[in-house]
Formats: sequence, structure tokens, C-alpha cells
Amino acid sequence: MTVLNVAGQEIPSRIISPDLIIKGGMIVTMVEDQGPIMEGNIFVTDGRITDTRGESETDNIHGSHAEIINAEDAIIMPGLINGHTHAAMTLFRGLADDLPLKQWLFEKIFPAEAKFLNQDTVYWGALLGCLEMIASGTTCFIDGYFFQDETVRAAHDSGLRALISQGVIDFPAPGVEDPEKNLVVAKEFIERWLGISDLIMPGIFCHSPLTCSEQTLKDAWEISQQFDLPLQIHLSETSDEVNEILKKTGKRPVHYLDQIGLINDGLIAAHAVHLDDREIECLKENGAKVVHVPESNMKLGSGVARVLDMVRLGIPIGLGTDGCSSNNNLDLFQEMDTAAKLSKVF
Ligand SMILES: [Zn+2]
Repeated sequence: MTVLNVAGQEIPSRIISPDLIIKGGMIVTMVEDQGPIMEGNIFVTDGRITDTRGESETDNIHGSHAEIINAEDAIIMPGLINGHTHAAMTLFRGLADDLPLKQWLFEKIFPAEAKFLNQDTVYWGALLGCLEMIASGTTCFIDGYFFQDETVRAAHDSGLRALISQGVIDFPAPGVEDPEKNLVVAKEFIERWLGISDLIMPGIFCHSPLTCSEQTLKDAWEISQQFDLPLQIHLSETSDEVNEILKKTGKRPVHYLDQIGLINDGLIAAHAVHLDDREIECLKENGAKVVHVPESNMKLGSGVARVLDMVRLGIPIGLGTDGCSSNNNLDLFQEMDTAAKLSKVF
């Protein structure tokens, strides 16, 4: 009988000796044009998948010493990637509902962060976030926050893969009382964690083009370049932000960031709600990445991103939950459901 590997290629019948067998689940390989393998078995040796076979294809397997996980009635699929979150914000779940972004952020979230965030609370908040992500199928997340050594520790303790970025904002911030030092702190954070783990990558997260000065943005980009790391930012989240940037710089946010060198393939821009055609083309031409966060945009009444226009143009789009406080959970299956439905009515 023909046996296919995860790429859909025929493999010869041969003897294999796995140390782990995941048995009997529906395997979703994500290989284009290949349907799920029903009642499939996955064979793992030294932490790597070496084979996948149907239930009747297990003749030549020497697996008597293998650990066996029974996956009957389960789906086996690649882990999900949460493209934008602030894991420790599980602490602020449901703290302030039914408010627009500016009021929510400046009147509720920033004061709560100033009062409650410290190394201890960030560790436990991030660990809760990691557990919540694991429970809903996420194995990798992209995070931007403060006291990020603790988010690294939580990700490490939970076994998740992550890009964890130190938050940069030109106000006094948790753990960074003097905004003059925000990039010094960020650079030291990168130096502390770069290369220390296969699973954790450090980086910088600029809060937004409004809350970071032009010089801060340029310097953050330069440091990211120096270490060959991506730079994260919240971009064009609300129409107010667009209007304020227009007033301040004479340009819409994407063109302003492009002028100072940030729109390129190292940029991961979350939200990207209020973009005109030329801004979308600029993102595409320069290879910038976008993360769609529909539930956060809905909760804060920010608007609906033109995600289908961006997908059709070929801009790489990820999906994220944003922090728990603007969602109020970290469930990517729910986010997929919302994204699919929202795109049909917009
Ligand atoms: Zn965010």
C-alpha cells in the first residue's frame, strides 16, 4: 500500500524505530491540496517527525519502546502563532470594557500598569498567558511589553517559542522610569537574551508612531538592524492616530514611517486598520508584515482592517489576539472565526 509523507510524496516501506508515536488522530498537514490523514500515526525520533502513516501502514515499525500518545478523536496539526500580544496583560482581562482606545489606554490601562506592574506580576501574568495560549493550540507568540525578562522566563518555563520585545515609549514606563533610557534598556535586553535559546528571540517593540518620537523610532530601527532583528509597532490603529500624525508630519502614518526608513521587511505592524490604497501599496513594495487583530479592533471600536485587500496584494498577514485586556482572551481559534466572519461583511 502507498505511504505518503507530510509533503504528500510516496515513501518506500521501511523499518523505522521511533521514540514517540502519536496514534489515531486526524492529521492536518497544511500541505496544499492534501486533505487530512484520518486515523493517522505520527512517528517522532529525537524530537523530529520522521514519518506519518495511516492506521493500516504500521507493519514495519519497531516501536515497542516508543512512548505512545493516544490521539483518537483529536486533531493533530502545526501549532498556531499568535502574531501580536502582550502576554502579561491577562492581569487586566476585562478591566475596562466599552471604551474607545485613547480613553481605555490613558485613563485605565496606563494607570493600572503604573500601579501594578513589577517583575513578579509580569512573570505570573505572562505565565497565565502562556498557559492560555497552549490550551488553545498556540505554540509561538510575538510579544511586546515591559519587564520582559519575566516574559522570557514565563515562555521558557512553559516551553513556548516566542519573539519577545522590550516595549519602548517616550513616557515614563513600568521598569523604565526615565524615557531617555528606553532604548538603552531595550538594547541591554537584546544583548542579554540574543542567542541564549533556540526558542526565544528578543527584540524591540515601539509602542506607536504617536507615542515614540521620530528620533526614538529611527534609533530603535537602527538597533534592530544592528542585531538583524524585526521591529514591532502598533500602526494606524485608529482614525484619530492617522489625523494626529497627519497634523504633526503632513503625512499619513505609513508614509511618515517610510520617510524615516521603517517601512521594510523587518517591520511587523500590528492593527494597520486605517490605510489608504497608497499606504497598502507602500507596505507591499517594501515587504513589511502586518498582523490582523480583529477582536481587539472591535472591542476598542477602532475599525476593520482592509485585510482582504492586503491578502490579495500579497502582503504577509499574521493573526493576533493583542493583549488580553483588549480582547478578552488569547484564543486564536476564536480569532480565526471572527476574522473569517468579519471579512464577509466588510
Ligand atoms: Zn497591542
